[in-house]
Amino acid sequence: MDLRRKLPPKPPSTTTKQPSHRSHSPTPIPKASDALPLPLYLTNTFFFTLFFSVAYYLLHRWRDKIRSGTPLHVVTLTELSAIVLLIASFIYLLGFFGIDFVQSFISRENEQLNNDDHNVVSTNNVLSDRRLVYDYGFDVTGDNDDGNDDDVIVKSVVSGEVNSYSLEASLGDCYRAAKIRRRAVERIVGREVLGLGFEGFDYESILGQCCEMPIGYVQVPVGVAGPLLLNGGEFMVPMATTEGCLVASTNRGCKAICLSGGATAILLKDGMTRAPVVRFATAERASQLKFYLEDGVNFDTLSVVFNKSSRFARLQNIQCSIAGKNLYIRFTCSTGDAMGMNMVSKGVQNVLDFLQNDFPDMDVIGISGNFCSDKKPAAVNWIEGRGKSVVCEAVITEEVVRKVLKTTVPALVELNMLKNLTGSAIAGSLGGFNAHAANIVSAVFIATGQDPAQNIESSHCITMMEAVNNGKDLHVSVTMPSIEVGTVGGGTQLASQSACLNLLGVKGACIESPGSNAQLLARIVAGSVLAGELSLMSAISAGQLVKSHMKYNRSSRDMSAIASKV
Ligand code: ADP
Repeated sequence: MDLRRKLPPKPPSTTTKQPSHRSHSPTPIPKASDALPLPLYLTNTFFFTLFFSVAYYLLHRWRDKIRSGTPLHVVTLTELSAIVLLIASFIYLLGFFGIDFVQSFISRENEQLNNDDHNVVSTNNVLSDRRLVYDYGFDVTGDNDDGNDDDVIVKSVVSGEVNSYSLEASLGDCYRAAKIRRRAVERIVGREVLGLGFEGFDYESILGQCCEMPIGYVQVPVGVAGPLLLNGGEFMVPMATTEGCLVASTNRGCKAICLSGGATAILLKDGMTRAPVVRFATAERASQLKFYLEDGVNFDTLSVVFNKSSRFARLQNIQCSIAGKNLYIRFTCSTGDAMGMNMVSKGVQNVLDFLQNDFPDMDVIGISGNFCSDKKPAAVNWIEGRGKSVVCEAVITEEVVRKVLKTTVPALVELNMLKNLTGSAIAGSLGGFNAHAANIVSAVFIATGQDPAQNIESSHCITMMEAVNNGKDLHVSVTMPSIEVGTVGGGTQLASQSACLNLLGVKGACIESPGSNAQLLARIVAGSVLAGELSLMSAISAGQLVKSHMKYNRSSRDMSAIASKV
């Protein structure tokens, strides 16, 4: 919404205000481009066009004069005007390319002023105040300790005069935008959201990446299970959950693994997928593209085109499936430490643009045609894998099964066969041949900033249990073909989530060996699932499940006291 059209602008305030001290967000920085009468991109387009068209005209005239032998210094009025315009646009463009340089001075000056605890009112602040007064039609930059100015904006949001989604951009202050939106929402619904967390969160950090239109944050407790002894290393696994027993149970599984000498996790595959759907006029044409894409001779060319999307994206495989005259092309690529959805999508777009040259009749229906398959239960992920495919195993000694897990090896093996294998087959399960892999996957995903919706395919898991060492000990394994995790991008960079990644020693990008952090995180997820499977299966086989859930998962608090106030 164009606020200037909706709200009659007041004359710019000339009073200089003493800005309040607000440590949560900086004062909006004035931009050199604010001085332009038109938006920067329009001004640039205008001067670029002017410069090149006038230069073209003058060169033409120059060539004509040489041909006709006219002296170059004899200029007509039009040529003179053209020369003036050329010089003017040149000066502008020179200024434009220097604008960053100018901006850096302005920003530096502004920062210095902010550091002075806002005690000095600068002309820059006055300038930015004026700009915001104009944009809104009322002063939104004042000292809002008394909340008067914010009240005016809240009212405008409630009445629909101001768009809630544009508050961050207009105010240049994410904290304040969230606060105003929250108050507006409370007024609209007529109820308070008192318990929803608000203070102590960096609203800047989610802007344009993690969450739009924030009004606060939900607190999810984080427990820790461990140490998980995996591939010789010890990991304390952060789990964000509100399900009582889950962390305690996983912790017990970790203890059993640790006392039995640890678990081993092996990464089988690492490749993110994206599958666009394209349509042709005939099935024959669709088949021709399928043959072209699956022909090894073309793979190198397609890889070069695909890999341009990122220095971490490397095309591994193209798999096609046809439905009539529609072709589904499943691209698989490695994505370094990123979970990789953005990266693979960019690569796929590059290839589609490239293919359009040889297949101009190809109609791209969608960059994602669900053969990928993202955030949906699908056999393709279960069979082919997506993200990281991991198998993790451990041998739990008979003594540990008895003393820590409080059950027996034959009871566990039998339960696994009848519940996780047969029971899931009876249920027609897709990738759900386990007791509760999704519990552990979701908790670790939320704690470490993964996309929780990808828990669907990431929780695909088959748990196997077998008596070994003459039937004394238990061999347990989890096979998980599509664990989709990253340690850069998305929610991983947020303070709490990145702290949890740091706890595991996998925070951010691995410089020496890109991809290693994300791969280790996938192994840890599988190891934690192994612990969770062991413990829950033991609880069920020992008949403890209901008992422990009644103890840890049922609050004794009076529920009527926390009923929603309407
Ligand atoms: P995703 O593809 O998971 O959505 P993004 O593409 O948003 O993730 O984030 C990955 C970004 O991080 C890319 O811009 C990439 O260049 C950068 N990056 C830096 N180091 C790495 C690394 N080791 N592995 C993958 N990406 C990295």
